[in-house]
Amino acid sequence: MKHLIVVGAGLVGLSTTRAALASGYKVTVLEQGPLPNPNAASSDQHRLIRYQYGRAAGYTRMVSHAFDVWEKVWGDLGETLFEKTGTLGIAHGSNDYVAQSLATFEDLGIPHERLTSTEIERIAPQLTLPEDAWGLLNADGGVLLAERIVDGLLAWNRSQGAVMRAHCRVEHVDLERASVRLIDGEVLEGDVLVVATGAWLGELLPSHALPTYRQAACYVEGPEAMMAHWRNGPSLTDIGIGDNYALMPVRGTGLKFGSGAHRRAGSPTDGFGAELAEGYEVIAPFAPYLRYAEGYRPVRMAVGYYVKDSSEKFRIDTIGKSMVVTNCDGQMFKFGPLVGERLIACADGKISAGELQGWAAGA
Ligand SMILES: Cc1cc2nc3c(=O)[nH]c(=O)nc-3n(C[C@H](O)[C@H](O)[C@H](O)COP(=O)(O)OP(=O)(O)OC[C@H]3O[C@@H](n4cnc5c(N)ncnc54)[C@H](O)[C@@H]3O)c2cc1C
Repeated sequence: MKHLIVVGAGLVGLSTTRAALASGYKVTVLEQGPLPNPNAASSDQHRLIRYQYGRAAGYTRMVSHAFDVWEKVWGDLGETLFEKTGTLGIAHGSNDYVAQSLATFEDLGIPHERLTSTEIERIAPQLTLPEDAWGLLNADGGVLLAERIVDGLLAWNRSQGAVMRAHCRVEHVDLERASVRLIDGEVLEGDVLVVATGAWLGELLPSHALPTYRQAACYVEGPEAMMAHWRNGPSLTDIGIGDNYALMPVRGTGLKFGSGAHRRAGSPTDGFGAELAEGYEVIAPFAPYLRYAEGYRPVRMAVGYYVKDSSEKFRIDTIGKSMVVTNCDGQMFKFGPLVGERLIACADGKISAGELQGWAAGA
């Protein structure tokens, strides 16, 4: 039986463990924090899965494959931790990201509707839009219940025999030999090693360091009549200027606003705290498009960190007996289980390292 060592118990590490167990591996997972680690990028009430990827046809196609693997995950967990809210991008010009996504949907035959501003306000009456705004609606996207998924995978992996070790910080890896040394000096050697340490990768492998960012999303409460509309409407992938998105309050989760424009250079050593007042900065770019905007207030901040370089492409490096996953951006949750299956397909020799790398880069 081959032994897989996984460093990092975020969604990528847990999904790789799931795929490896299904393929007959013995698996040891090493996590520097508690299990689950509330500071991991994978830890939050919810994450968005949406087809809208501009002109990036490879990633748009990958979303369909991701949905197929999520179905298998629901089968393993015995429950569907996904709410199909639909996803709506709102365009304010003729050639922005939403228009690019529309062109890609048309090329690939992804089902969608193009809505006028009046039609958008009919399905999302909490919004008030300029007349020339239009929307790209996809009915299949929606909300992944992230924390419950992480909890479910932890329990499933344990039930299938994975050794899950909390508070085990790996301080050195030998990628050629698939061996790791823990902070207390213990050494473990496997047949395959997967490093999925998110924004902490540069601390472990300085040779793989890429820029890291702090992203603070904000849970908000709005006027009660508007909250009812949020609960029934689609999730928003784009609204206003600056890559703003909103996740619906479904199945006990809150309404969450996020903004790409609110991303800051930073690393986990900067800490995970945030003043509630920062939430008003996240709400600000939404405000021109919110009916009764003055009634919205932040109720909780959620701070996470991720790796992101200018390529906006996932990176999987294969070195010796190891695979290193990085550059996951604010995008990898939806693809986590799919990536886990591809990593194990490569470890099993079903796809080559070159194919894996090209695929991860959205080829
Ligand atoms: C605010 C925010 C919003 C996002 N929104 C979305 C979204 O809507 N949709 C989407 O698809 N994606 C989204 N993402 C991105 C997605 O959440 C991440 O890309 C994904 O969760 C990364 O998973 P991971 O397993 O690679 O990393 P992480 O979840 O960060 O896990 C890495 C783990 O490795 C552990 N670790 C690190 N170093 C060591 C070490 N030396 N030894 C042992 N353990 C170690 C860490 O403690 C951590 O638990 C968002 C991210 C953020 C921060």
